[in-house]
Amino acid sequence: MAQGPGGYETIIEPFRIKSVEQLRMTTRAERERLLAAAGWNLFLVRAEDVLIDLLTDSGTSSMSAEQWAGIMRGDESYAGSRSFFAFEAEVRRITGFANVIPTHQGRAAEKILFNVLHRPGGVYLGNTHFDTTRANIEYLGDEAVDLPIPEGVVPARIHPFKGNIDLARLEADLARHGERVCGVILTVTNNSGGGQPVSMANIREASRLARAHGALFILDACRFAENAYFIQQREEGCAGRGILEIAQEMFSYADAATMSAKKDGLANIGGFLACHDDELAAQARNLLILTEGFPTYGGLAGRDLEAIAQGLREVLDPDYLRYRVRSVAYFCEKLQARGVPLILPPGGHAVFIDAGAFLDFLPREQFPGVVLANELYLAGGIRGVEIGTLMFGKRDPATGRTIHPPMELVRLAVPRRVYTQSHVDYAAEVILDVHARRRGLRGLRLVHEAPFLRHFTARLEPV
Ligand SMILES: *Cc1c(COP(=O)(O)O)cnc(C)c1O
Repeated sequence: MAQGPGGYETIIEPFRIKSVEQLRMTTRAERERLLAAAGWNLFLVRAEDVLIDLLTDSGTSSMSAEQWAGIMRGDESYAGSRSFFAFEAEVRRITGFANVIPTHQGRAAEKILFNVLHRPGGVYLGNTHFDTTRANIEYLGDEAVDLPIPEGVVPARIHPFKGNIDLARLEADLARHGERVCGVILTVTNNSGGGQPVSMANIREASRLARAHGALFILDACRFAENAYFIQQREEGCAGRGILEIAQEMFSYADAATMSAKKDGLANIGGFLACHDDELAAQARNLLILTEGFPTYGGLAGRDLEAIAQGLREVLDPDYLRYRVRSVAYFCEKLQARGVPLILPPGGHAVFIDAGAFLDFLPREQFPGVVLANELYLAGGIRGVEIGTLMFGKRDPATGRTIHPPMELVRLAVPRRVYTQSHVDYAAEVILDVHARRRGLRGLRLVHEAPFLRHFTARLEPV
């Protein structure tokens, strides 16, 4: 399997390091004290008390020397900034959309688009709506329906494009909801479903069905480059094609796209909304001015627009993408070889541990995902995030019992260009150690919860 430079097997980080950020080592005794003080909730631990922070891949990328140079070149003019036109040109080159509207994050683009598309009883159909996407849709009183393929929700089931939408259910739901469908949204890669890619054939067919029903076809494009790389590697007839060309074809099927530049923009902040239709864009710009800013900066500084423009060029580099996807797969392989239960095959941006299977002797009321995430911190200073009962469990108002989400996961998201192979080796060693002594772990109980998004502020204690 020669995939590295010069025909060698080793995939190297395709960069060298010019500026370093010191990591702070702590002892297990210190971490026990810190975690207890944080109510056994890793969201309440300070970042400087974490050794390897895998909480999210959002906004945590290292910027390149060229991006930092762009930061210095940034034009901070209120209107018509040069940096806006550099940004607009890059987004147009990749997406082909005439209208490019900058926003401070992806969720701002979502909020504006869904406000424009809103109609009474509106429905969106998608592979799996990301949580901010769903929240913005539901806030307007519209409905978000997830239609993943059946393989997409079984952790151990291997499929090359587990992020695909179920086309038969999409067609049936389009017919059933008729006029009420505001849009069809494909999230590439499918973040909530394990960072799994969507195939070109699936994008093409979903677009055809949406357009045949007169519904807008939208890409949630946060990880469009990782998705394009998976298409190049896995889809019939795509092996010889360039990443840019694949990305351009993906966007060619869409009427609009939302994007968080904190992911495949390789930037620390930013996003955009882009579309073909001038009337839709005009309505979006009217809302943009109310909450984000003038259409040539939209909630960003000129320097941010420069950093994103450069980041969008760099993210399409095949050497970068090969290293990116390979390093996540390498992390997974080390764990899989020793029997750690995972979502497979590896996705593009994170390792997802099946915490329900890992700690199958703990009842879900005792938060096995949180127990596992906490032990990875106590053992090795690693911070991941539970995606399970604490994050998504809902209390049934009738019975008072908790309704559990389908999967109990711990996500270890890999920031872009931040950690090296030795960091991954270390993290894998910690996880394997915890796996070997998992039977000794104890459950947790909730002592405080807020009415909404309780995982951010919950406090727990060992049972
Ligand atoms: C991060 C993300 C968003 C929201 O973007 P923000 O920049 O965090 O507001 C939307 N969709 C997906 C798939 C994401 O991963």
